Amino acid sequence: MRIQFVAQRVLAVMAHPDDLELLCAGTLARAVQDGAAVGVCVVCRGDRGGAPPGVSGPEELAAVRRGEAEAALRLLSPEAELFWLDVPDSQAQDSPQLRQALLGVLRRFRPTLLVTHTACDYHADHQAVAHLAQAASWMAASPGQQDGQEPLPCPPELWQADTVLGLDFQPHFYIDISEYLELKRRMLRCHRSQLARADEEGFSDLDQLLVQQARWRGAQSGVAAAEAFCTLPRWKRLGAW
Ligand SMILES: [Zn+2]
Repeated sequence: MRIQFVAQRVLAVMAHPDDLELLCAGTLARAVQDGAAVGVCVVCRGDRGGAPPGVSGPEELAAVRRGEAEAALRLLSPEAELFWLDVPDSQAQDSPQLRQALLGVLRRFRPTLLVTHTACDYHADHQAVAHLAQAASWMAASPGQQDGQEPLPCPPELWQADTVLGLDFQPHFYIDISEYLELKRRMLRCHRSQLARADEEGFSDLDQLLVQQARWRGAQSGVAAAEAFCTLPRWKRLGAW
């Protein structure tokens, strides 16, 4: 039996422009097929990732990365919304300013399910975004936090996405993405500036990383390919399916 997504509006809050593809794009694709509206909020602008030939400086690279993220999102769904917080790489933090910025996005998109990082992932930006998303999504439901938009009726359910290579992550559940693995790979291929780095010493082949992780998460859960998540066991953060 195939369980349908019950969340109507799914927002992924990711640290960098290509985190979505590696960690949860298959799940969002599945949500789209089940009729959910999806959106992605990218906190950092990717301006310290590798620059392809002809691209010079962080400003230009950030513009390239944004274009790549937009192209990938169009493959997911023509209606998928991209929110871009434009924070320089390595400067994500759970700060009052960023909480306010993300609160504005959350009240605009109005997710019923939020997918974000876990604080035990490898990169400081991922760790910061895990805390930031948790804080801002709680505040977004608080009538005391006024920004001219309607507060959310309740904080969205929150799923923490897998870590890169699954390190230090014990999944609570898996989503079968067997039908969406190729879409996930095509979305990743939109991030040309990063795939071009496969020849760099010490930089991983991202496509290989994506496929390996989806396959062994699938093997753990008895399907061809899967993405793994944890729920956040906090008051008002768990939804009944
Ligand atoms: Zn990242």
